[in-house]
Amino acid sequence: MITEWYLLDTGFCAVKERIAYGTGNGIAPCHAVCGLLHHDARGWLLFDTGYAPRVMEATRFLPYRLYRSVTPFHLREIDTAMRQIARYGLTPDNIETVIVSHFHADHIGGLLDCGAAHFVASRTAFEAIQGRTGLDALRRAFLPPLLPADFAARTTWSEDLHSGEILPGLGATRDLFGDGSCLLVDLPGHARGQIGLIARTVKSESLFFAADATYSARAIRENIPFHPATRFFTDDSRAARATLQALRKYHHACPETLLLPTHCPEVFARCSR
Ligand SMILES: [Zn+2]
Ligand SMILES: [Zn+2]
Repeated sequence: MITEWYLLDTGFCAVKERIAYGTGNGIAPCHAVCGLLHHDARGWLLFDTGYAPRVMEATRFLPYRLYRSVTPFHLREIDTAMRQIARYGLTPDNIETVIVSHFHADHIGGLLDCGAAHFVASRTAFEAIQGRTGLDALRRAFLPPLLPADFAARTTWSEDLHSGEILPGLGATRDLFGDGSCLLVDLPGHARGQIGLIARTVKSESLFFAADATYSARAIRENIPFHPATRFFTDDSRAARATLQALRKYHHACPETLLLPTHCPEVFARCSR
């Protein structure tokens, strides 16, 4: 069971509000939030690693510099996930498992800082970016310098885990630790093979780390699809719309579950400081 959990803000990029969140005419900070959770038997795990200053390094020159022009970001060393875990008395060596929702740069920025952690990702997601470089990688919002060279050797593929509970709307899950506390769900559309995490805590809380299946919890509540301008980075628009409907069905059936999309302003407001 999950005994503790925290939300860590790792920095932000500036986005047009209307494009990211469906309303407003201004520019909004789009924060990349990752989850830090403690499992009573399996230790500390992270859901994504967010941004890190390494993303600035990786985008210094063309063609990867284009990533910076599309999503201009503000990153500080003190905001990296690995710096923030010190607040809880942890070092990178204490992180046993890192779940990688998908391989967009704002989710894998801190992977190289994770000590000897074990990774969990979908094979489908990895195969979609493996070996890609230059514009071919950029089209998938993937920056190859952020990926540890031994990534595949350190990874358990979600497809190989035992089946977990069937969830309303979302369907089949994979049970990460075999105790029902951490269920991985497929959230295709935004990125090939994207996965999310539903975590159950000892206090009977249900947490849904929904990655980039949507950019806000409000979009789930109010049925706001991705803006057409996000299509450039979207793997499959039809699948993304179907995933939003799956999230809505799940939310209607389980309204008590806390919705935690990575870039949601409500999630940023809950971050540990
Ligand atoms: Zn993404
Ligand atoms: Zn993202």
